[in-house]
Amino acid sequence: MTGSNAAPPMIRMESVDKFFGPLHVLKDITLEVPKGQVVVVLGPSGSGKSTLCRAINRLEPINSGTIEVDGRPLPAEGKELARLRAEVGMVFQSFNLFAHKTILDNVTLGPIKVRKQPAAEARKTALELLERVGIANQAQKYPAQLSGGQQQRAAIARALAMRPKVMLFDEPTSALDPEMVQEVLDVMTTLAKEGMTMLVVTHEMGFARQAADRVIFMADGEVVEDSTPDSFFSAPKSGRAKDFLGKIL
Ligand code: ADP
Ligand code: MG
Repeated sequence: MTGSNAAPPMIRMESVDKFFGPLHVLKDITLEVPKGQVVVVLGPSGSGKSTLCRAINRLEPINSGTIEVDGRPLPAEGKELARLRAEVGMVFQSFNLFAHKTILDNVTLGPIKVRKQPAAEARKTALELLERVGIANQAQKYPAQLSGGQQQRAAIARALAMRPKVMLFDEPTSALDPEMVQEVLDVMTTLAKEGMTMLVVTHEMGFARQAADRVIFMADGEVVEDSTPDSFFSAPKSGRAKDFLGKIL
C-alpha cells in the first residue's frame, strides 16, 4: 500500500521527541500509518501512549522531529490548526461532552462553528451519525441522562461529524462499566471495517486481535515492537512485551 509512488501515509512521524521538563516521554519516534490502517497501541501506563496521540493532534507540542497528516506538516496555530484538528478526530477516556448541551447540539457544534455548515445540514448529518452509533433516540437528552456507553458513542459521533480523515482513540472504554465496553468496541469495529484510518490505545486485547491490522507496543517512550496482532500475541520479541502480556492476559 505504501510504495514510493503511492499516496502519502495518513500519519507520518519522523524522529519525534517530546520532553516534559527533564522527562523524555517520546524518544525518537518514527512511524507511518497508511490510509485505512487500524493500529492498536499497547504499553504499560506511563509509556507515552497518550502523549503520542496528543502530539498527532497537536494538543501537545513536540520538541523535535516532524509530524504530517495526509502529507501536510502540522501547523503551529491559527485557522490551519483548527482545520487539522477537524481532520483528526479524537475520542478520550473521559467522554468530554458539553454537559449543558443536548447530545444533538454536542454533535452539531463543531460542524457549524468550525466547518461553517448550515445548521439544518449539520443537524441532518448529526442525526444520521447518532443513528449509526445507535443512539438517535437520545438526541434531545443531556449527557448526564445517558449511560457511559451511550455517552462514548455520542463522543464518537461528534468526532465523526467533522468528517475526520483519521480517528485517534485514547483508552475509549477504560472508564466504562464492563457491560458497556462491547457496544463501544462494536462501533469502533464497524468504523474500522468501513476503512477509517485509526490509532487506538486500548487494553482490550479482543479488539486488538480482531480489528487491528497492526500492533505497536510502547515502553518508556519508545516503540519497542511493531508487528501484526498475530505475531505480537503469539510471539512477542521483547522482554518488556512478554512481561506486559503476562500481566494483562
Ligand atoms: P500513557 O498514556 O502511556 O500512560 P502518557 O503519555 O500519559 O503515558 O505519559 C507519559 C509520561 O509523561 C508519564 O511519565 C507521565 O507521567 C508524563 N506526563 C504526561 N503528561 C504530562 C504533563 N502534562 N506534564 C508532565 N508530565 C507528563
Ligand atoms: Mg494514557
